[in-house]
Amino acid sequence: MAEASERVVIELEEIAAEVRVCPRCELARTRTQAVPGEGDPAARVMLIGEGPGWHEDREGRPFIGNAGKFLNELLAIAGLSRESVFITNVVKCRPPGNRDPLPDEIAACAPYLDRQIVTINPDVIVTLGRFSMARWFPGERISRIHGQAKRDGPRFIVPMYHPAAALHQSALRGAIEEDFSKLPKILAEVERERASNAEPDVPPSSQMSLF
Ligand code: URA
Ligand code: SF4
Repeated sequence: MAEASERVVIELEEIAAEVRVCPRCELARTRTQAVPGEGDPAARVMLIGEGPGWHEDREGRPFIGNAGKFLNELLAIAGLSRESVFITNVVKCRPPGNRDPLPDEIAACAPYLDRQIVTINPDVIVTLGRFSMARWFPGERISRIHGQAKRDGPRFIVPMYHPAAALHQSALRGAIEEDFSKLPKILAEVERERASNAEPDVPPSSQMSLF
């Protein structure tokens, strides 16, 4: 695993520091702690959930309740350790009673997620549930597109069911496990493309002389 540059580490810390004192939406008034996200600053895989739940709000860390334990199992299926990825949410503060985040809350919080994506620059983004999916697949249905990687510039976006939903519904559980098992192949594809792009350009004259 590559080392993250100092610039990346500092920028992620700066974003987290801003999130922890952020007053930009109503959720600031009811949170215990904001949950900026955590993981390897050099992560190739970034996972984006919905918003902190009860446990996350108490601890200030993402996906540490039952859904988080299941997420760790899913990562293991993909051959990924929790430490090697970066995990965050669409909204960084808990919606009271675990209600859905509101459109204005998602919009207010989006600049933090934007900056995290630009800073980490992951090869693959896994969206967990419909709120993070909607950012790249507006109007789509998760039941139709889960597990299908879509290119977005230099990376792939892979929409998946939310682990909290999949945990208790056996049909979804099988689907999310299968979707995670596809991640190594998707990562290998990005790697392959990167390697072929990195090959030095062959000048046209020498290209012609090959034939
Ligand atoms: N569910 C989420 O979407 N995010 C968390 O951090 C925890 C549970
Ligand atoms: Fe700020 Fe996002 Fe928390 Fe709203 S949810 S207060 S925008 S960090």
